[in-house]
Amino acid sequence: MPEVIQQLPENVSNQIAAGEVVQRPSSAVKELMENAIDAGAKRIEVRVVDAGRTLIQVMDNGSGMVHADAKRCFQRHATSKISVAEDLYSIVSKGFRGEALASIASIAHVELKTRHASEEHGVHLQLEGGKAAKPLPCVLEMGTQIAVRHLFFNVPARRNFLKSDAVEMRHVIDEFHRLALAHEEVHFSLHHNDSELFNLKASSRRKRVVGVFGSKYDERLVPVEESTDVVGVEGFVGKPEFARRTRGEQFLFVNQRFIKHPLLHRTIMDAYEGLLPRDQYPLYVLFLTIDPARLDVNIHPTKTEIKFDEERHVLSLLLPAIRRGLGKYAVAPSLDFEQETGLNILPLDPSRNVPEPAVSVNADYNPFRTPAQSNAAPSVSGNRSSNALRPGRGQMDAWKKLYGDALTSDPISVYDDNASVELVQSEVGEGVTPLLSEQAVDQKRSVFQFQQRYVATSTRSGVLLIDQHRAHQRVLYELLVSQLENATSSIPVQRLLFPEVVELNTSDRHFVLESREWLERMGLLIEPHENGVQITGMPAEGESTPARLIEAVLEDDGNDLPGISRAERVAAQMAQSMAIRSGKGLKEEEMTDLLDRLFGCSTPDRDPFGRRVIVNFDANDIEQRFQ
Ligand code: ADP
Ligand code: MG
Repeated sequence: MPEVIQQLPENVSNQIAAGEVVQRPSSAVKELMENAIDAGAKRIEVRVVDAGRTLIQVMDNGSGMVHADAKRCFQRHATSKISVAEDLYSIVSKGFRGEALASIASIAHVELKTRHASEEHGVHLQLEGGKAAKPLPCVLEMGTQIAVRHLFFNVPARRNFLKSDAVEMRHVIDEFHRLALAHEEVHFSLHHNDSELFNLKASSRRKRVVGVFGSKYDERLVPVEESTDVVGVEGFVGKPEFARRTRGEQFLFVNQRFIKHPLLHRTIMDAYEGLLPRDQYPLYVLFLTIDPARLDVNIHPTKTEIKFDEERHVLSLLLPAIRRGLGKYAVAPSLDFEQETGLNILPLDPSRNVPEPAVSVNADYNPFRTPAQSNAAPSVSGNRSSNALRPGRGQMDAWKKLYGDALTSDPISVYDDNASVELVQSEVGEGVTPLLSEQAVDQKRSVFQFQQRYVATSTRSGVLLIDQHRAHQRVLYELLVSQLENATSSIPVQRLLFPEVVELNTSDRHFVLESREWLERMGLLIEPHENGVQITGMPAEGESTPARLIEAVLEDDGNDLPGISRAERVAAQMAQSMAIRSGKGLKEEEMTDLLDRLFGCSTPDRDPFGRRVIVNFDANDIEQRFQ
C-alpha cells in the first residue's frame, strides 16, 4: 500500500481556518479592531469601502510591532498573548489563538505598516494569498495600519455568499458597536466609502452609549450597578416605554467581551415583567465583571457564546439590580412633597395610561317602554345599577327572537354588543319586525363574517372560511412585490400632510436609508432626519403607521430564505403590519372586495409566511356530518 497521509500545506490549512474565522467582512473588521485594542491603542480608525468587500483598513496608535514580529504575525498560531498553558486561565486580551491574521492573509491582499516605539523606522509588508513580499522600511508614527483588500478574492463561493452592501454594512456596524460600547476609553471612528458614520471620542460610559445610539437616548437610560465578591454588573437598561418590537439594542458583555446568553437575556426580560407589552424588547447595555479564572476560555473566535461557573450568582444579582434601577426611575418623577402616602412606590410607570374599568350597559333600557317613550324620557341616565346587567323577561324574549333570526341571517349582530342592544330596543313594543328583508338575507348568505376574524362564503362545492388578516397580507404582499418588479405600476400613496419622524439609532438609520430606493417603490417615502428618518408618504391602504412600517423594515435580519430577496422579505413584513387585523368588523363590500382580490392572487391559499389562509368545508364532508 502506498502511503496516503500527508501534512496539508500551510496555505491550505490557513484557508480552512479562514472559513471559520472570517465569514464575512464584519469578522475581519472585528479581528483587526480587537488586535488594535489588545495593542493598547487609544485611537482606532476604521475605514471600509463597499461594506468591506473592496477594502477594510484599521489604523491604531497602539504598541506597534518590532520588525521580527511583523514578519511573524501572519503565521498560524503566532501570538504574543499567551505562551504557556497556564496563561489560558488569566486571559484578559481579546485574541489569543494567533489565527486571525494568518486566516485573513490567506484569503485577501493584505498590507501592513507598523512601528514599535523601540525602533526608528516602521516596516511595510505586503502579502498576497498568504505569501509576503520583501519587507521595506517606512516612515510611521508608533502604531499599526492594516489594509485588507479584495476579501475572498480566491474563494468565490464565499464571495457569492455575501449579502447586499446594506446587510454587510449592518454587520460591520454591529461589530463596531460591540467594541465601541465595551471600550469607552478608546477614541473610535468608522468611515464607509466617503462618509463618516461614527466618531466617538473617549468618554464616560453613558456618553459612549449615547454616542453609539444617538443623542435622544440620553433620557432613555436607567443606570444599573450592583456587585458581590464574585461578580459585578454595571451599565444601563432602557426605560420600558422606549422598548421596541425589533431586537438589536441588547448588549451584554462579560469582561468587556460581547456575549450572547439566552438565559441571562431571559432574566433581563423577566425584570421587565408587567412593564412591557408582549413582543417588545427593552434596550440594555450591561457589563458583567467576573474573575477570568472562572470563565471557560475556549471561546471560539467567531462565537459569542460563553460558559462560566458563576451563572447562578449572576442570575441572582441581575434581576434585582435591574428591578431596583427601574423602580428608582419609576418613583422619581412622581415624588411629590405634598403627597401624604408613599403609595406609588410600585415599579409602575406613572406616565402610562391605565384606563378606568368600564362596563358598557345601557342604563336607560326599559323593556316595557315603547321606543317613542324611550327616546323622549331617559329616566335614570348614567345609572350603572347592577340590575341593568340582568335581562328582564321581556328582554329575554327579545334575545331569543333575535338569536333565532340571526342564525338564519347575519351572525354578526349576535356578537356585536351595540348592534344587539339597538335591535332589542327597537324590537320590544313594536311587536314583530323582521330583522332583515327576505332579499337582504339572501344576499348576506353569500358572504358573512364570523367572530370578526373569518370571512365565510359558499361555493358550488362547499363552504370556505377565510382568515381575514392573512388574506389581506397575501393581497398586500403581492401588490408590494409587483411594485418591486414593475417600475410602471404604481401603488396608491398617501402623502402625509405632517411628515412623521421615526426616531432611529444611527445604525438603523443608515440601514433604512440604504434601502430607500426600493422602499419608495413600495410606497414608503423616506427622507433623512437628524434623529432618524422622516416619513413623507406611505401606502394608502391598510392599517399601519409610519413607525410600524419602519419596524417592519428593520425586522429583517438579512438571513436567507431560499429564493426570496431581502426586499421581498421586507414586503412580507410590511404587508403583515398593514393588513386588517382580526377583531375588526368588516362591511359586506369590504369582504367581497377582499375575496375578489385574494382570488386574483397567484397563491391565495397561503399568507407570505406560508400560513394557511383558506379552510374549505367540502359539501361531502358537510353531508357526512349530518349522518
Ligand atoms: P491573536 O490576536 O490571537 O494573538 P492575531 O493573528 O490576531 O492573533 O495576531 C497575531 C499577533 O500579531 C498578536 O498576538 C499581536 O502580537 C500581533 N498584532 C496583531 N495586530 C496588532 C496590532 N494592531 N498592533 C500590535 N500588534 C499586533
Ligand atoms: Mg487577534
